[in-house]
Amino acid sequence: MPFASLGLPDALVRAVEERGYRAPTPVQSAAIPAILANADVWACAHTGSGKTAAFALPLLQKCLDGGPAGPNQTQALILAPTRELGIQIGESFRRYARFAPSAVRIVTAFGGVSINPQMMALRGGANILVATPGRLLDLVDHNALRLGGLQTLVLDEADRLLDLGFADELARIFELLPARRQNLLFSATFPPDVHAMAEYLLRDPVRIEASSASSAAPIILQRAIQVDSTRRTQLLRHLIQAHGWTRTLVFVATRYATEHVALKLRRAGIDAAALHGELGPWARSQALTNFKAQRLPVLVATDLAARGIDIELLPVVVNYDLPRSTHDYLHRIGRTGRAGAQGVAVSFISPATEAHFHLIEKRHQFELARETIEGFEVTEMAPSATISSHDAGNPITAIPGNTGGIKGKRKSKKDRLREALGKGSASD
Ligand code: AMP
Repeated sequence: MPFASLGLPDALVRAVEERGYRAPTPVQSAAIPAILANADVWACAHTGSGKTAAFALPLLQKCLDGGPAGPNQTQALILAPTRELGIQIGESFRRYARFAPSAVRIVTAFGGVSINPQMMALRGGANILVATPGRLLDLVDHNALRLGGLQTLVLDEADRLLDLGFADELARIFELLPARRQNLLFSATFPPDVHAMAEYLLRDPVRIEASSASSAAPIILQRAIQVDSTRRTQLLRHLIQAHGWTRTLVFVATRYATEHVALKLRRAGIDAAALHGELGPWARSQALTNFKAQRLPVLVATDLAARGIDIELLPVVVNYDLPRSTHDYLHRIGRTGRAGAQGVAVSFISPATEAHFHLIEKRHQFELARETIEGFEVTEMAPSATISSHDAGNPITAIPGNTGGIKGKRKSKKDRLREALGKGSASD
């Protein structure tokens, strides 16, 4: 089915064709007509499925159809969990709007930088505002933004918004919105708290499951390689050199590990940079830009920093440390094999993390043969007293041997969201 048959105007069709998109992905085919028909949408779509264009194209069409929003207002609001994802979404909107017959005002707002330019940008009103929740509320508190006239709300990566603890901010934002509006919720996973939020927000939504097989579904070769935890950097080096990997995204558990592993690789002659939340905005964007531009072969990142980043044609992802939450496994491997391209996702498994990987397999219903690489045979013993792991979906999961530490018992996100939304306590 061509893009033109989805009801999009020529200017937008031309922009996607120029990007090399030959046909809509499944999430685009399902979501674009629904959004144009003003329906609410509940989409289960991972990064790499083409979900950004699935909401950006119809929202742009609506902007072209309607007039500009008034001063300090916006027609559509896209909430994104991280500044990187926000920037990326803003760039996508700009690219798709390239041939628009009239100017579309797209504003991106996120924390960690001065609020003044963002306030200035909103003065003349926006068609599209892409923002992280905290900065959005700052803008409201500074009287730079009124949301009473909002037409469409998009929650992108809703699961991550809640994982990052934005439940209270979201509840506050929902209070500021007009009762009559369109709501679009995109999430790679639907744990109970996201489910609760979807039910609270969406009215009679069109439900879309886009992660299933399709021509554009990711093709990801998953590998599980056994290795002593102390020899993981050596194995990583070996694999990069033996396979001639030109671009590898390596996930580790802590900020310290990003720096440490990147340093060890550099010492071994492999150019690598760290990406974590405590880097300044400039250092983060340098590392990302160099990696995206293929000037940097290895990026060592934490989940937080790497979430939602779209790196085209990324061939390899390595789980140096396993993700603490089993949901994050899908997010991580989704960095590769994007929009139909093939990718490889390698997980390092030591005796101490074997039980946790087994949980990930069980949760996502797959089973990988364990591989051993010659010269890296395992000598470590499994720990005798294993800390009990909670199942999937529960971010309290403990992974013995992971340097990220163990998350403690705390109020569930579902409870926090319910409380924040004024619905009292939930029973899990
Ligand atoms: P997203 O899931 O929105 O992060 O998009 C993942 C990648 O797929 C991006 O690099 C897009 O440029 C690309 N993409 C989106 N839609 C299509 C399409 N219809 N055909 C080919 N590539 C696409």
